[in-house]
Amino acid sequence: MTGLINLMEETVLSKIDQLWEGTDYCKCDSCKMDVAAYALNRLPPQYVQSLKGKVLYQFASSQTQRDIEVTVAVSSGIEIVGKAPHKNVNFVSDEDGTLSAG
Ligand SMILES: [Zn+2]
Repeated sequence: MTGLINLMEETVLSKIDQLWEGTDYCKCDSCKMDVAAYALNRLPPQYVQSLKGKVLYQFASSQTQRDIEVTVAVSSGIEIVGKAPHKNVNFVSDEDGTLSAG
C-alpha cells in the first residue's frame, strides 16, 4: 500500500481556502482540519495511485458536477466550525476518522 492518495482531500482543502476568503471565521490549521473532516465525511473518497497522472486528469475533467457537492459540504462545514471553533467537535461516528492531510 504505497502512493495512495485521496484526491477528494486536496479538492476539499483548496475549496476551503476559496470559500474562507469571504468569511471572518477563524482560519487556523485546527479549524481547517475540522472543516475538512466534516466535508470529507460527507463526500465520497477518490483514491488514486499517485503515479497515475491520467487518473488525476480524468478526475479533474469530471469535477464540475462534483464541485457542487464539494461546495455544499465545505460551506456547511465552514459555518458549523466557524460558529463554534475549537470545540473539538467529533464529526465522525467511528473512532477511526483520522485525517492524513497534515
Ligand atoms: Zn481556529
